[in-house]
Amino acid sequence: MARIPLVAGNWKMNFDHLEATYFVQKLAWLLRDAHFDRRRCQVALMPAFTALRSVQVLVEADNLPIEYGAQAVSVTTQGAFTGDVSADMLAQLGCSYVIVGHSERRKYHPEDDANIVDQVRAVLAADMKPILCVGESYEERRQGIQLDFAVGQVNDVTRDLAKEDMANLIVAYEPVWAIGTGMVATPDTAQQAARAIRDHISSKFGDPAGQSVRILYGGSVTSKNASQMISQPDVDGFLVGGASLDVEEFARIVRLA
Ligand code: PEP
Repeated sequence: MARIPLVAGNWKMNFDHLEATYFVQKLAWLLRDAHFDRRRCQVALMPAFTALRSVQVLVEADNLPIEYGAQAVSVTTQGAFTGDVSADMLAQLGCSYVIVGHSERRKYHPEDDANIVDQVRAVLAADMKPILCVGESYEERRQGIQLDFAVGQVNDVTRDLAKEDMANLIVAYEPVWAIGTGMVATPDTAQQAARAIRDHISSKFGDPAGQSVRILYGGSVTSKNASQMISQPDVDGFLVGGASLDVEEFARIVRLA
């Protein structure tokens, strides 16, 4: 089954709405210049909540070939939850994706497995696609348990999901030791992890489900390593952090995908 590659830029807590506006306009121009075809590759930006509306206005006004989403979501639908943003609010802003379970959220916020499962459910229920982040720490890699660890995280989150949900689930294999460190996984390492995750989903939900789920690699992706990485059969694109803050570099990565 042909899976359309996805390149998603995780801006983290960078770019106010004016900087986001400039970025989107320039990216759209660079994509047009490169004859970008959204049927062959999808591009998504994950701004801070405060920039989502500005991105939406630009994308919708010019029907730009750029999707967008959020970096986290509340597990509740509405009410007295100060500071939270619901899945429906994001869907109303035209979000297509929400990053769930990023290692920085697991570390700096009380996001445990149960909360991550609920976020995934909330995103799916609002007809958006969760980008579920999994991946081992340096210590787990040193112990040689990296594949079991990443597959275990996928297993925990998908335990109560339905086969049909797999078409909308995106998994980002992001070894924690590679995030923001400049230490990128080898293409072979990324392929092994992506393959193990796909095999797990196939064994649990059937082969069509395993073949339909998109698996991204994330962790110090740049235009220098993207090409070898994307040529791996089970790597369907990237979740890009640092390199997504430079619009020219991000566009280069998109072109390679
Ligand atoms: C990330 O935080 O999702 C990420 C992949 O960051 P970086 O590309 O900077 O390693």
